[in-house]
Amino acid sequence: MFLHKTNFLMRALFPRYRWRVPTQEPRVFLTFDDGPIPEVTEFVLDALRSHDARATFFCIGDNVRKHPNVFRRILDEGHSIGNHTYNHLNGWKTDDPAYLANVTQCQQVLSRPTRLFRPPYGRIRRSQAQVVQQTHEIIMWDVLTGDFAPDLDKEIVLRKTLQYTEAGSIVLMHDSLKAWPTMSYILPRMLDHFANRGFRFDALPMTHA
Ligand SMILES: [Zn+2]
Repeated sequence: MFLHKTNFLMRALFPRYRWRVPTQEPRVFLTFDDGPIPEVTEFVLDALRSHDARATFFCIGDNVRKHPNVFRRILDEGHSIGNHTYNHLNGWKTDDPAYLANVTQCQQVLSRPTRLFRPPYGRIRRSQAQVVQQTHEIIMWDVLTGDFAPDLDKEIVLRKTLQYTEAGSIVLMHDSLKAWPTMSYILPRMLDHFANRGFRFDALPMTHA
């Protein structure tokens, strides 16, 4: 089962990675990985706009290159962007120089400073992380929605996502073609659910406050 809430053990093992935002205020931090993708990312932006919500987009550099107009819309509408490498590399399967060069290549195409980085698949070696952390904060997640698994029942994904999300949660979704059927189902319902309960949807800050 993909769908889960990150437990204390994971957080204890990797205390220097960010898993949630320490707040008691009713704020949720939605994050979208693997875009920008036409239609999919645009659907997300429309849904966010209709709820006056902000989110964080961890972009694949090569997708930014291919879809610059969609990328620009993310920024124009007040959302945050983060680095997700240029080619969506798995850190466990990539040597350090190649991995770090790919992070730099992504940063160049993002063309604006962001301290936010999320390793694809959540997989990054300690040696890689040590270098990335000199310029970025490594952002993991509190709630993994499972939107990328087409065999999961959409209703179950929605129910678990609503159940696990709480004040300060960093919620991981995908603005990808693969996640599209499930993500497009859960996102509007999630926005409605938490807006009705007085929650705000905020972007993670791209620079230190
Ligand atoms: Zn990814």
